[in-house]
Amino acid sequence: MSVRTTKKHYALFVKEVERWAAAFGFRDWKLYTYHSKLDPGNFAECEWDLGHRVAYLRLSTHLSDEAAPPTVASIKRVALHECLELLLCQCTTTMREARPRDFVSCETHKIIRVLENVLAGEAK
Ligand SMILES: [Zn+2]
Repeated sequence: MSVRTTKKHYALFVKEVERWAAAFGFRDWKLYTYHSKLDPGNFAECEWDLGHRVAYLRLSTHLSDEAAPPTVASIKRVALHECLELLLCQCTTTMREARPRDFVSCETHKIIRVLENVLAGEAK
């Protein structure tokens, strides 16, 4: 049976995105959130358009079959994660001009994991 996220999970995701967007000062950004089916293995994702200051944060409706069932904590965590992606988006975009995408993703995620652990711990 496939693992899914519910409307309740999505509502929590949106609330958490709004909370972190305020905390991180994304006032000049237009954020759009979605609850849609993403590529297998993707719990959520964040895409941005730097020039237009628009970002798209998506929570997947379907998780991979091996995924653990979503919890309040995991939804909060993934919302924080996607907001951290957005916080670093200028750096990520700049690094992508110089280095391969996988390298950039690995480096940014080292930072994201640290911030996630610190901030998720403090945000309970
Ligand atoms: Zn990520």
